[in-house]
Amino acid sequence: MKKRSASSAEILNEENRQRNAELNSKNSANNLRPFTALENDKETGTFKNLDQLPSQQGESEAKMGRNIQSWRCCRYQALPKWLQDNEFIHKGYRPPLPSFSVCFKSVFRMHTETGNIWTHLVGCLAFMLIMIYFITRSHEQIHSQEKYVFSVFFCGAICCLGFSSVYHTLICHSEHVGKVFSKFDYLGIALQIMGSFVPWLYYGFYCETFVRNTYMVLTATLGIASIIASLWDKFGHSRYRKLRASIFSAFGLSGVLPAIHFLYARGFVNAFKELALGYLLSMAVLYLFGAYLYAARIPERYYPGKCDLIFHSHQIFHVLVIVAALVCLRGMSLLADQALSENLC
Ligand SMILES: [Zn+2]
Repeated sequence: MKKRSASSAEILNEENRQRNAELNSKNSANNLRPFTALENDKETGTFKNLDQLPSQQGESEAKMGRNIQSWRCCRYQALPKWLQDNEFIHKGYRPPLPSFSVCFKSVFRMHTETGNIWTHLVGCLAFMLIMIYFITRSHEQIHSQEKYVFSVFFCGAICCLGFSSVYHTLICHSEHVGKVFSKFDYLGIALQIMGSFVPWLYYGFYCETFVRNTYMVLTATLGIASIIASLWDKFGHSRYRKLRASIFSAFGLSGVLPAIHFLYARGFVNAFKELALGYLLSMAVLYLFGAYLYAARIPERYYPGKCDLIFHSHQIFHVLVIVAALVCLRGMSLLADQALSENLC
């Protein structure tokens, strides 16, 4: 009996010793790995050891939270492949931050995405306020039909700017999360273009129901095609930058057909002078100019490393999108006033 109980105790002790040794080695590995990655290069603030980042090892956010709170900006070369997008922007990047709360907190720090996040966040809030002001006016001031038609535009703009802001916030979370939210970003652009077309077509062809509906169906078809293209997995890859700019530019340019029709029906002088076609053209120029800068990566291409935090192409593109949306709103308001006051039908 004595011998047997002694050997059982020995076996138990041995098992405990082995378990403790395993736990110790796991704990020390978990604690050391993030610090190796995060504090490898204090002088440049870069990560030399990114392949050891815990996100790629599938560790839980809870274990990681304590360490990624102390992230520092890094250089382009230190980023993993899935975060490398623009080699003309040299430094100031967020490293992979596999925690939603850390990503959202990073909105209040300065890095390459700060300008992109805030330009569209402020734009999104501004359009929400304009929409609230618009739909809370009395029936005498703004007709309810007008409120519905313009709400389509407002919703498109709010979705576009809001999705874009969230995408730029979460792009560094992980490859998977970045991909999912890039689809929302493209979806927002398609909704913005569709939403911008609706009031133009509605009031531009106010009395010609068949023509108006035909153009609306055409816009919806192209919009859905753009959304489907956006949902394609490889669409977000940097190699398809020009294809992305081309698809959305083509969708935007499809407005040329109803614009020419409108010009022909109303006469050149009237269309420009009274019916706000000038605003439509200005909007198109702003969008196309923004898309061109984005695709060509101007100005950072000519000043590599000088536009890392502010004035890089993506930020300028964001600002142009907001200005274009405001120009669009002004033109549509003029067109709606014209159509309603003239009582053409
Ligand atoms: Zn963007």
